[in-house]
Amino acid sequence: MRKDKDYYKILGIAYNCDKKEIKKAYRELAKKFHPDINPGNKLYEDKFKELGEAYSILIDDKKRLQYDILKGFITTKEQTPEQTKNQASKAYSPKKPGAESSAEKNKKSEINFDNIFKEFTKNFTKNFENTKSDKKSSNEAKKQSPQKGEDISSEVNITVTEAFNGAIRKVNILRVDTCPKCKGKRIINDSSCNNCNGRGEISSHKQLNVKIPSNVKENSKIKIAGEGNKGLNGGENGDLYLLIHIIKNSYFSFDGLHVHCEIPITPSEAALGGEIQVPSIEGFVNMKIPPETRSGQKFKLSGEGLPDGNSGKRGDQIVTVKIELPSNLTEREKELYKELSRERKFNPREHIIFEK
Ligand SMILES: [Zn+2]
Repeated sequence: MRKDKDYYKILGIAYNCDKKEIKKAYRELAKKFHPDINPGNKLYEDKFKELGEAYSILIDDKKRLQYDILKGFITTKEQTPEQTKNQASKAYSPKKPGAESSAEKNKKSEINFDNIFKEFTKNFTKNFENTKSDKKSSNEAKKQSPQKGEDISSEVNITVTEAFNGAIRKVNILRVDTCPKCKGKRIINDSSCNNCNGRGEISSHKQLNVKIPSNVKENSKIKIAGEGNKGLNGGENGDLYLLIHIIKNSYFSFDGLHVHCEIPITPSEAALGGEIQVPSIEGFVNMKIPPETRSGQKFKLSGEGLPDGNSGKRGDQIVTVKIELPSNLTEREKELYKELSRERKFNPREHIIFEK
């Protein structure tokens, strides 16, 4: 629905015309501007789309009323939501839309819009109430008393390392807020607020920096007070609950409190030994590789596993090494490997006995 467009003008009809006239005008124009008549003509396509948009709004009683309010064809008096509900029938005053309508026609449309407006108001009041966390109540006093906003929840995916160390994460949330344009009053300058469509509240996006504590467990919930939906009648805001989901990356696997991983080493590291850095759930830790390390050999990093929930005592990390050759060997490297093989006649398969 666009305020800058005059849907009545687009369909070439009067402001107070009835549905029959809307249908007739649309049918005639849609036939005239149908894209099949002028294939590939952008102007016709756009016009056809515009006609469809105008028709879809004007043929729908609720949308038409909203549009009329938006355009100022119908105005509403500023009042509280309760008054709006109780006095729906008096809540608007039809404005003379221009010179084209007679007093009699105006009177006729007044009756029509009266009912539509009642329904419309009922509908948005209902929507408004649906956002309250408490059960609906017919008690007027209770409706005006402060009520806490609804709690909202969001899911946060963290790595195993983040779960162990804690982390600061940016969390995007969608929550119900007071409309900043009408300040929740629903009405601006006698017409329905076009920012919130007269609801007084909008769905707003917010990014929060959230501190995730260390040693957080899978499926645990973190409460962030006051970041839920807005409270009603001055009531406090609801809370935000973050559901923690720990991503089991393919790098680590778990066996109780023990953490397993595989780490590649170079042929020279395997032969000569050395110190390498190994990722642990806490970050990187140093690990010594002894000379003549075999591929598949396992090393234990004591106390680098997951902490026990009660005692806090940590399991171990078991590291399996795998010798990895670089690809695209240079001529010089190939020469050196040839020299190595000349240095020692080594057959690692000589002990393998094949059964016939
Ligand atoms: Zn508003």
